[in-house]
Amino acid sequence: MLKDDCIFCKIIKGEIPSQKVYEDGDMLVFKDIEPKAKVHLLAVPKDHYKLLSELDKNRSAALCRIMQKLPQIALDNGCKNGYRLVVNQGDDAGQTVFHLHIHILGGENLPWE
Ligand code: AMP
Ligand code: ZN
Repeated sequence: MLKDDCIFCKIIKGEIPSQKVYEDGDMLVFKDIEPKAKVHLLAVPKDHYKLLSELDKNRSAALCRIMQKLPQIALDNGCKNGYRLVVNQGDDAGQTVFHLHIHILGGENLPWE
């Protein structure tokens, strides 16, 4: 289910433009508007929920299919030597968009501090 006041739902519906790199029935992958690395993509499930604690059977199955596809999507988009996945959850993590999304970061050596 999509939500009217959610920016990622609007991107999924095509109401807000995005630089899409991949789409299937489970997810949309597009470039982050404020990249934090040379490659910075967002993999967004086509179902509106905020947190992993809201996973049910269907969402879990979709998220598993999504995760299985991320290695090839990362490779196809310039992550030749690895990449980092980040899933911010809630306030302490600084989550700003309340629709679950997986950051894919790479294309360069990433600092780990
Ligand atoms: P988070 O802080 O984990 O909630 O990440 C939200 C991400 O969404 C940030 O990295 C933003 O730069 C990104 N973002 C917000 N609006 C857009 C947009 N319209 N198109 C692409 N990325 C966006
Ligand atoms: Zn949403």
